[in-house]
Amino acid sequence: MADNERGLIFLKPVLKPTIWGGRKLGTDWGYELPDGPVGECWAISAHPHGDCEVAEGPLAGKTLSQLWDERRDLFGDLAGDRFPLLIKVLDAEDDLSVQVHPDDAYAAEHENGSLGKHECWYILDSHPHAHIAIGQKAANREEFARLAGEGRWDDLVNEIPIWNGDFFDIKPGTMHAILGGTLLLETQQSSDVTYRVYDYERRQADGSLRETHLAQALDVIDYVTPAPESGEVTVPEIDGVTDLLESDDFCVLRVRVDGSHVLAQPWSFLCVSVVDGAGSVTCGDVRHELHKGSHFVAPSDCGDLSFEGRMELVCSHV
Ligand code: ZN
Repeated sequence: MADNERGLIFLKPVLKPTIWGGRKLGTDWGYELPDGPVGECWAISAHPHGDCEVAEGPLAGKTLSQLWDERRDLFGDLAGDRFPLLIKVLDAEDDLSVQVHPDDAYAAEHENGSLGKHECWYILDSHPHAHIAIGQKAANREEFARLAGEGRWDDLVNEIPIWNGDFFDIKPGTMHAILGGTLLLETQQSSDVTYRVYDYERRQADGSLRETHLAQALDVIDYVTPAPESGEVTVPEIDGVTDLLESDDFCVLRVRVDGSHVLAQPWSFLCVSVVDGAGSVTCGDVRHELHKGSHFVAPSDCGDLSFEGRMELVCSHV
């Protein structure tokens, strides 16, 4: 196979208008935005609700889901009916609803064989005094149902302050909400199964309330794990690399490039997002310019990635 067929796969992001979004994905990240508030950039996605197209090179114009179906060799011949990860940049100007996701087993049984959703957040740009909601405070299902029925959400939702550089692992069953004033990178399983628990009694433009899914949420909420108190990253950085998450679903690492940095690519694929700075990456003998907001997939057996410049990267693999 010609070398250029195992080159880095740069993707065109899919930008999504949302009522809770802002404009920073345009002003700070350089994406072309539709009018109005835009909350989501689907940066690396093969999900049918936002399937990214290859931006350049011999595969230009193909979608990531087409590559998954037609060129599984690029992903180390991994099994599975879909590309497993979904990388988003989220700009929340306003609060998102409080929600929870099922695990794979519950989703397979109750959501037509869909994947569950394990997600995690790396905080990039938060307002002073910004918070998120993570975890919940009821001792068990019965107490949760009673407090929810009485509308005592302050006694249920656990809010904590956040700072740039914080990282939150949001396993299936962990109740959570991104609150206003937060811009973050989300790495998640490629799934859309969300149970909305509470929406602050907000009314939509037509005066209606958005649907909630309390019955399913009560089934899947984790009543055992204590809610976290902080997202501070405490694992050591070694040669610029910090392992933010290692799990059965996926792994996430942060890489700081200061000058030059060579990153091996031994996995079936590696997702790379530039979240700060600028520079370049060379793979094989092809060099690509990089800047904040660049995202690419390094295919299997593509060789080492040689980065130059000053950049912060968030990378993930299964
Ligand atoms: Zn979520």
